Parts: sequence; structure tokens; C-alpha cells
Amino acid sequence: MSGRHEKEKGVNVQVLLRCRPFSDDELRNNAPQVLTCNDYMREVAVSQNIAGKHIDRVFTFDKVFGPTAQQKDLYEQAVVPIVNEVLEGFNCTIFAYGQTGTGKTYTMEGECKKAKSGPNNGELPLEAGVIPRAVKQIFDTLESQNAEYSVKVTFLELYNEEITDLLAPEEISRVSLEEKQKKQLPLMEDGKGGVLVRGLEEEIVTSASEIFTLLERGSAKRRTAETFLNKQSSRSHSLFSITIHIKEATPEGEELIKCGKLNLVDLAGSENISRSGAREGRAREAGEINKSLLTLGRVINALVEHLGHIPYRDSKLTRLLRDSLGGRTKTCIIATVSPAVHCLEETLSTLDYAHRAK
Ligand code: ADP
Ligand code: MG
Repeated sequence: MSGRHEKEKGVNVQVLLRCRPFSDDELRNNAPQVLTCNDYMREVAVSQNIAGKHIDRVFTFDKVFGPTAQQKDLYEQAVVPIVNEVLEGFNCTIFAYGQTGTGKTYTMEGECKKAKSGPNNGELPLEAGVIPRAVKQIFDTLESQNAEYSVKVTFLELYNEEITDLLAPEEISRVSLEEKQKKQLPLMEDGKGGVLVRGLEEEIVTSASEIFTLLERGSAKRRTAETFLNKQSSRSHSLFSITIHIKEATPEGEELIKCGKLNLVDLAGSENISRSGAREGRAREAGEINKSLLTLGRVINALVEHLGHIPYRDSKLTRLLRDSLGGRTKTCIIATVSPAVHCLEETLSTLDYAHRAK
């Protein structure tokens, strides 16, 4: 539990589990269910038949969201406190981790167009995910306060340790693959202990609806890239960052600037680092492509275990997130799984991975 971690270990990593409903295909095929969620007990049970014996394994998480949990439920129970921290001037990160097809993008962005078209009469569509809801909470809060503020966003994709800008002007998204490769942006030290991505578009936004347009533009670009690069989406990470500056006056009349950053990360499919991937002889390729996913696991493990050395420098993703992982930051990992038997092996490896992060 995060509360226990805070007290005993001083680390603030929360691990949630979300199980998607059966898909229409799985329902049609009567796919057997191997996973049962107990949201109230924060438990997930996996039933397996091993050598004719029925075995149940139970995993406990900080929170569990079963197939009937709505986007709104997950947001209100898990994300609202994190966004409040960001508004207080801290850096926080939320990851979606899991096998391809288990709901990472659904959780982070929500169902395409309808969710990203922004609030209607101030209300978000039911299917809107974490990103649009966080944006709405941020602007609702800022607009209700009597303070000057600025909000900036960046949206990038990391594929094979190369960074591409998902907000770069439109014409770039139509260029050929070769040209696309040239648009890789370098990651550099900023001389102040942080990093910066040279050439990355930083959009200043003044209202929630503007971010929805950007989000739609970025994810459309991600989808376009998918048709160029086979399976890219399952192997790439996307990072949507919102930086907020709030100018406040202290009671003594001094000016105070609070700066908080929220990182929302839709990770590469976890099958890329799991046992099955390695067995099929794709180990080398998988290792190269998913250095960031492997290193992230090691960084979180080092933070949770309080190891002296945190290997931030070993991958681009962890370098990018260095100022937002560990210390006085909140980290939330949303592990996504499928309830169906055909995903069992990957489900178990996701559960093990997520459990180790606790
Ligand atoms: P991933 O990004 O992990 O590959 P997606 O987010 O694309 O997976 O989800 C795969 C499919 O399952 C999509 O059609 C999505 O709408 C659906 N889905 C995922 N999670 C849920 C959920 N909690 N409720 C309803 N549909 C979901
Ligand atoms: Mg996805």
C-alpha cells in the first residue's frame, strides 16, 4: 500500500490493477475466464489447471478495477490526488503497463474521437481516459483560483530509443519512413542536472479544449506512423507531459512560483520483455527495442528497494522522467490485463511485474 510505503520506506509508488471486459470476439467464442477481480478486497485471483490440479493464485494491489469499473471510477479513486499534487508544485508520473490489447491506450486516452473532442457542456464523455480528465481537472482548478498561471504540453513517442515529436507540424507526419527517421530528436543534458529534447514542440495552452485538439493531433500522428512501421504501436512508448507554473503571492506579499509536471506514459506492450518474446528468438531485438521498458522496471525496483544506485541513465525513457521518479514525487503504475485464458501467460507476467513494483 502506498500509505505503508510512505511511512516505512519513504517511497511513493502506487500500483493499480485494471482488468478489461471480455471483447466481443472473446464473448462469441466463449473464451474461458481465468481472472477474477475483487475490487473491494483489492485482490485478483488467477485460476490455472496445472497437471490436472486446480491452482488459484491471489495477488493484492493498492487498488483493483475489475471489468465493470468505469473510466470515471478509476480517475476519481486513483488520479485526482495525483493531479492535486501536481497543482501543489510536484512532479508526478502515471504509467500504463501491460500486454498489447489489454487497455493501456483506452485507460490513458480513452476511446478515440468522442473522448478527445473535449468537454460537452463541461462534461466529459464516459469513455474519456486519464489524459482528458487530468486536463479538465487542471483547468477547472486553475480557472477557479485567482492566480496567474501557464500550462505547457509536450507529446512524444519513443521507439527503439529514438524520440519523435507527436506535436510537430502536420507536414512531417506525411513524410516517408526514411525521412521520418531523420526527424529523431536528440536528448541532451541541460547543464542543470536535467535533460531536454532539442527541437521538441512545447505548446502553450490556455484552455482544456486546446489540449484536446493537441491530443487528437498527436494520437492521429501515432496512428499514421503505425501504418509505416509494422507493429510500432505495441513497441513504442508515448509520453504526454503537462507542465504548470502558478504565480502566487505569499501573505507577506512576496511572489512565489509553483511548478509542477504531470507525465502520462502509455508504455510499449509488456509482451516485448516477457519470457515468450525471448523464447521465440526475438530476444536480441526485443532487448534493444525495449531497453526503456526493462530499465524502467529496474529503476522502480531500485526506488522501492531503496538501492543506492538508481539506473536512470540506462535508457531514454528513464532519463526523460528522471526529475519525476523518486524523491518527493508520486508514481502510479496502472497494470492492465485481460480476463481471458488465451492471455494467461502474459497476464501472469504482468501481475508478477506489477507486484514486484510494490
Ligand atoms: P492497448 O493500448 O493496451 O494495446 P487498447 O487500449 O487499444 O489496448 O484496448 C484494446 C481494446 O479493448 C480496445 O478496443 C478498447 O476499446 C478495449 N478496452 C480496453 N479496456 C477496456 C475497458 N476497461 N472497457 C471497455 N473496453 C476496453
Ligand atoms: Mg495502445
